[in-house]
Amino acid sequence: MTGALRIVVVYPDLLGTYGDGGNGLILARRAQWRGVEAELTQAPSDAPLPGADIYCLGGGEDGPQVRASRSLMEDGVLARRVAEGAVVLAVCAGYQIVGKQFPGADGAVHEGVGLLDIATSKGAGPRAVGEVVAEATGVALPALTGFENHGGSTTLAPGAVPLAHVVKGTGNGDGTGTEGAVCGHVLGTYLHGPVLARNPALADLVLRWALDGATLAPLDDSAEDALRQERLAAARQARRRQSRRRQK
Ligand code: GLN
Repeated sequence: MTGALRIVVVYPDLLGTYGDGGNGLILARRAQWRGVEAELTQAPSDAPLPGADIYCLGGGEDGPQVRASRSLMEDGVLARRVAEGAVVLAVCAGYQIVGKQFPGADGAVHEGVGLLDIATSKGAGPRAVGEVVAEATGVALPALTGFENHGGSTTLAPGAVPLAHVVKGTGNGDGTGTEGAVCGHVLGTYLHGPVLARNPALADLVLRWALDGATLAPLDDSAEDALRQERLAAARQARRRQSRRRQK
């Protein structure tokens, strides 16, 4: 990579419902704090997607999600940049969009950008809403924390590796107990938070991918660690309460 690290938040006008745009800001700051020049761009859906090193896609409602997927396919820049080595962090609706297909509000099947070998359908049970704890399996990371809010259930095909195994919450919701998916430098997850605020080690993994494996100087993450411990302890306690209630 030459020049500044280019980070693009994709279509915040369509995929901005859950605050996932914060992921772009976190990546830019964690790069800059280490002396790495970084440019953060909010890319609206009515303009061509700019070239970038990292693309962040967030969660959104069903209708805007369909529009976002269509625009990304017509535009073609995201798929081209990924083929050239760009990194993608895609959350919830964004995760479903970078897969092969997902349902619209009426349940009709819509085509995704196809960067991950996954397919999403309408989940059979109630909407998955709440705190999630998941142990990373697809990448080497400490336990992941975040919250989920989705109706879709995602199935992974052989071309995608699960990101994590769910300890509390639903995640992919396809009965495998998995959460998220990874293929090369495209990472999808159901976790909001923003997920990189809750999981600074994941932010640094995304940065290392974009910086060709560069070693990153450690940062003072004590505030983030305190938040993580609080959320992990609360979620684990809720899970224990839940399983005690089930045993009664
Ligand atoms: N519309 C999608 C679903 O409900 C994504 C929701 C989201 O982005 N939080 O499955």
